[in-house]
Amino acid sequence: MRELVKEMLAGNRQSLARLITLVERESLEVPEIMEAIYPHIGKAYRVGVTGLPGGGKSTLVDKLTAVARERGLKVGIIAVDPTSPFSGGAVLGDRVRMQQHYLDEGVFIRSMATRGSRGGLPHTTSAVMKLLDAFGKDIIFVETVGVGQTELDIMETVDTTIVVLIPEAGDAIQTMKAGLLEIADIFAVNKADRPGADYLVAELEIMLHQSPKQAWWQIPIIATQAVNDLGTRELYRQIECHYQFLQQSGRLTLKRREQRKAELFRTIEHKIMAQIIELIERNGQLTDYLEKVERGEIDPHSAAKEILGNRALVEAWLQEWGQQG
Ligand code: GDP
Repeated sequence: MRELVKEMLAGNRQSLARLITLVERESLEVPEIMEAIYPHIGKAYRVGVTGLPGGGKSTLVDKLTAVARERGLKVGIIAVDPTSPFSGGAVLGDRVRMQQHYLDEGVFIRSMATRGSRGGLPHTTSAVMKLLDAFGKDIIFVETVGVGQTELDIMETVDTTIVVLIPEAGDAIQTMKAGLLEIADIFAVNKADRPGADYLVAELEIMLHQSPKQAWWQIPIIATQAVNDLGTRELYRQIECHYQFLQQSGRLTLKRREQRKAELFRTIEHKIMAQIIELIERNGQLTDYLEKVERGEIDPHSAAKEILGNRALVEAWLQEWGQQG
């Protein structure tokens, strides 16, 4: 494993791909991998792009990547796809992008599937971002296709969040319902070649008056036409502005501190959850509780209290855990 990390740090793309696969499969070697790359991370700037499906996120990321490449930056792209049962494979968005960047050594693209992940995806995505960072990427785009809690959690792990909307009836409302309005640092009103874009921009401006973030950062709304590569340079410029703002105001340092803290909690939570699920599958006493809860014979809160109050059970569990390392 150390060898693999060494090769990756030396610029070997295959080694990077293999490490990503290990992280995705939640291999037991993950903590060791993360420890080994830790001294090599912290340089990459992370940009999240989210919004309702079909809004043009892949196309936008493609154009933003082109601008970053012009600037001489090395780019990493992570596409989180809720519909694909495969990971590491090419999804539709990849094919769009690959036309332009496939042969470019300075761009690394990876798709990740959400299906089957037991809520660990934000965790995995964050680990993959670290690998890309250690690999030497200057800017990493994380594109999420869905709009659920997982996507919101992923956006908490980036530095700048772009929310993509399109001029379609109700898109602003849908976006607001999905909780995306609060997390946006920049709005892209894409497909601005369609009617209604101006109206959507005005609608967003009104909505933003109520945003608490507006007090310290003027959230820009940029009209774009990703397919025609219009407005995309301005969008990129706004990413740079946001980065400069975060850096100069000290908010970037603060944000990263918060992110590291959240990551520690998430890691512990995730590990404990995985253990509990495994334990329940094997332990008859817990299975009984579970079945009673499922049948509605005992309420989940009381069951949780009883389980955690059962000293013998918890001690046996901790002992077993300790033995596993
Ligand atoms: P994603 O699901 O958000 O990643 O969206 P895609 O990037 O895959 O784009 C969805 C569709 O919208 C594709 O057919 C794009 O060609 C198209 N599209 C992207 N940007 C624009 C745009 O600015 N105007 C129009 N009319 N279509 C666009």
